[in-house]
Amino acid sequence: MSYPKYDVLYPKVRQALSQERFEHVIRAGEYAVHLAELNDYDTEKARIGGFIHDYAKERSDKDFLNEIDKKKLDPDLKNWDSSIWHGIVGAEFIRDELRIDDEELLNAVRRHTTGDVQMTTLDKIVFMADFLELGRNFSDTDVARQVTDDSLDAGVAWQLQFSLSRLVRNHRAIYPKSLLAYNHWVGGK
Ligand code: FE
Ligand code: FE
Repeated sequence: MSYPKYDVLYPKVRQALSQERFEHVIRAGEYAVHLAELNDYDTEKARIGGFIHDYAKERSDKDFLNEIDKKKLDPDLKNWDSSIWHGIVGAEFIRDELRIDDEELLNAVRRHTTGDVQMTTLDKIVFMADFLELGRNFSDTDVARQVTDDSLDAGVAWQLQFSLSRLVRNHRAIYPKSLLAYNHWVGGK
């Protein structure tokens, strides 16, 4: 289980992303450090998790669909889109291209788009850092940041409530794993 240093990953992530998204992942890495400090977690590993989470976000649909076949991932994934793929399938590109085989980091990337019933501290840090990095500015950002500073678990519940509500309002489908995560973290099941 290993992963390269931030400085080694930096140019590879830089070339994979637009300027705007690159700035998002830098800020997510910084916010992950903040949350790691509050939760006694390895700050460098947290920074890397935040920094790589959207590495695959600008890949084509064709790339993702080929990768699902090539790696024999769950065929149901093909019924979804890049908003789900860039985490679950994106982890495959990260393993192969960024040479990260640390499953804890790969799982945090996989789970950042959906949440999950079981989430490690790193999963929660990356999930929340993506949502709360300082470039984010939705209504109640400050409330969400405070809730998450007080309790990482409460932050996960807050985000799931926020994101699933938005999907329902916009008549969007909800990935089953997200619904299970919602039932667990918000509904107490
Ligand atoms: Fe993402
Ligand atoms: Fe993101």
